[in-house]
Amino acid sequence: RIVYVNGAFVPEAEATVSVFDRGFLFADGVYEVTSVLSGKLLDFDGHARRLERSLAELDMPMPMTQDALLEVHRRLVAENGIEDGLVYLQVTRGAADRDFAYPPKDTPQTVVLFTQSKPGLADNPAAQTGLKIVTLPDLRWDRRDIKTVQLLYPSMGKMAAKAQGADDAWMVEDGVVTEGTSNNAYIVKDGTIVTRHLGNEILHGITRAAVLRFAQEAQMKVEERAFSVEEAQDADEAFVTSASAFVMPVVEIDGAALGNGTPGPIAKRLREIYLDESRKTAV
Ligand code: PMP
Repeated sequence: RIVYVNGAFVPEAEATVSVFDRGFLFADGVYEVTSVLSGKLLDFDGHARRLERSLAELDMPMPMTQDALLEVHRRLVAENGIEDGLVYLQVTRGAADRDFAYPPKDTPQTVVLFTQSKPGLADNPAAQTGLKIVTLPDLRWDRRDIKTVQLLYPSMGKMAAKAQGADDAWMVEDGVVTEGTSNNAYIVKDGTIVTRHLGNEILHGITRAAVLRFAQEAQMKVEERAFSVEEAQDADEAFVTSASAFVMPVVEIDGAALGNGTPGPIAKRLREIYLDESRKTAV
């Protein structure tokens, strides 16, 4: 696999990053994940804009223009022959002798991109069966709107879910659901789609923005507000969204089956609409 590191396209075995990189020492970096279907990038513009925002919130500049970034993505997709898959991008504050204070502004950022090939990404069989979710307290920091590389707690959440025979976890704070370990969370009751409002408590999902727009265009009712685990367990259906899972139905929450325990009609319809529409605007 060819990867991109600090301006060079190299075989992964030859790619290196300093042991003093602040991403490694302080999780001082941000990332993005963009999906690829039929060789084209979905929602690239949204991911590039969110990257710029995450960087700005941490007082870091964009390492290159959005056009240059698109070219790096495209070249990796082409060189690695990616039909369906993902492109990961990570930008850190660079390498400097270990010190909590930021290094001088002219310290070169570390920029890494790599691909993952996922043949049949849009035909994930999990979309037919739906996910089983468990809940756990949200112990992350209070700036979850910044897409930082601090992914240890979500990683622990995924492991906790697997240990309980579930597929993923939703995190709960002050009695209400924030989001999934790596996705935004939704419930549907009496035809109304409910998902937590934006704020510092959740990541502003690029897939979330697109799905809510498509839902409104399809005359579906949407409420952006917090919901409790009890309300979720009593919902008709539920689902999650992310760049890698698109729209993925949820069929069970903490052991309680939703509806008849199979993916609900609104989740299935939104998945179809999202895939159709975002393929049309893919670059
Ligand atoms: N929330 C969290 C915590 C995530 O990690 C992700 C995926 N990166 C999302 C939501 C979904 O965001 P997106 O639709 O932009 O992939």
